[in-house]
Amino acid sequence: MARLILKPGRERSLLRRHPWIFSGAVQRVEGDPGLGETIEVRASTGAFLAWAAYNPTSQISARIWDCSETTRVDGDFFRRRLQRAVEMREATLSPSPAQPVRLVHGESDGLPGIVVDRYASTVVMQLSSAGGYRWRDTLVELLAQITNPATIFERSDSEVLQLEGLPGSVGLRHGDKLTGAVRFQEGGIHFLADVERGQKTGFYLDQRDNRSLLRTLSLGRAVLDCFCYTGGFTVSALAGGAVSVLAIDSSAESLAAARTHLELNRLSGAELAEGDVFHMLRRLRDQARSFDIIILDPPKFAPTAALAERAARGYKDINLYAFKLLRPGGLLLTFSCSGGLSRELFQKIVADAAVDAGVDAQILRWLGAASDHPVALPFPEGEYLKGLLCRVAAKA
Ligand code: SAH
Repeated sequence: MARLILKPGRERSLLRRHPWIFSGAVQRVEGDPGLGETIEVRASTGAFLAWAAYNPTSQISARIWDCSETTRVDGDFFRRRLQRAVEMREATLSPSPAQPVRLVHGESDGLPGIVVDRYASTVVMQLSSAGGYRWRDTLVELLAQITNPATIFERSDSEVLQLEGLPGSVGLRHGDKLTGAVRFQEGGIHFLADVERGQKTGFYLDQRDNRSLLRTLSLGRAVLDCFCYTGGFTVSALAGGAVSVLAIDSSAESLAAARTHLELNRLSGAELAEGDVFHMLRRLRDQARSFDIIILDPPKFAPTAALAERAARGYKDINLYAFKLLRPGGLLLTFSCSGGLSRELFQKIVADAAVDAGVDAQILRWLGAASDHPVALPFPEGEYLKGLLCRVAAKA
């Protein structure tokens, strides 16, 4: 068994159960472990620390499977981990088979780089770690047994694969071929997930609670949905009685899918606009338009911490214009899904945007991903989606 020996003192984060070992902490690697192979991690003193999956290419040299020396990382280990993840969802969400759910959320479920979503009877697996790739066939077999799906489709094509030195891997892995987008329901609303080509695994499951919050806030309101993708927020606002929704996205294909969602749910009152949100917000301002509720759910501006500063300028800009477009008493649901940007920094950026826009605003609620996207306590990086529900004060 190959071994990774840490530099003196670099076992601290591991002892706090953080699941990553950065290359800078590595003293040496003994043996010649292949990509994703299970290795032993030891302190400089020689003490056993963990079993991990090795990756010679990534800045994260090893991702921890388990910290107990007696554990064997084998098929049975993955069966237990997958079952534990599925049982958590059943205990806390009781999803009906028709409801979409994230069954496995990577590091936070003790399965680094392994994500599994279920839409109706279709299971989508997204791998982004060498360890996940190594165990692909085992994972597919176990998921088939545990979730009994009609289809398992693999969507390992996220941008982080490059950093991990892994090739994309997309295709049918089990069961029936897909025949178009998968239809499912959430809170009585019909949606489609384009599992083969859509973003993420086809739908933004993480925003579930925030869609439902928006629905409760929307009665009689004029809503602006920026970065609307396939219209998850737009449809929820209209289902909640919004009088109008202006939905903006730069992708014509996403807007076409949003149109289909509106038709599926027989909802009217939305205007779908193709364009760049940065420009469109300025144009709306020039036209003296105003809204009761604005949603800002942009793509990841900062995939890594190194890009946080450039990203901060982007967030500041859109939040500033959103504050200018809100009526007194209006609500802003603003998000960042940049893993490299902390909640504190995001809140500061939004606060500065309000000052520059010349409005007084309060945070009514901190928003985040739904509970099927848990954050393991020792892994704060798992909290990638941060949001704020802000209210612009009425004129004093
Ligand atoms: N709010 C969506 C998810 C947003 S994903 C939901 O809940 O489903 C981000 C979206 O932003 C993508 O659809 C992408 O096409 C769009 N996008 C990226 N850059 C953009 C820009 N500058 N202007 C408008 N849309 C943009």
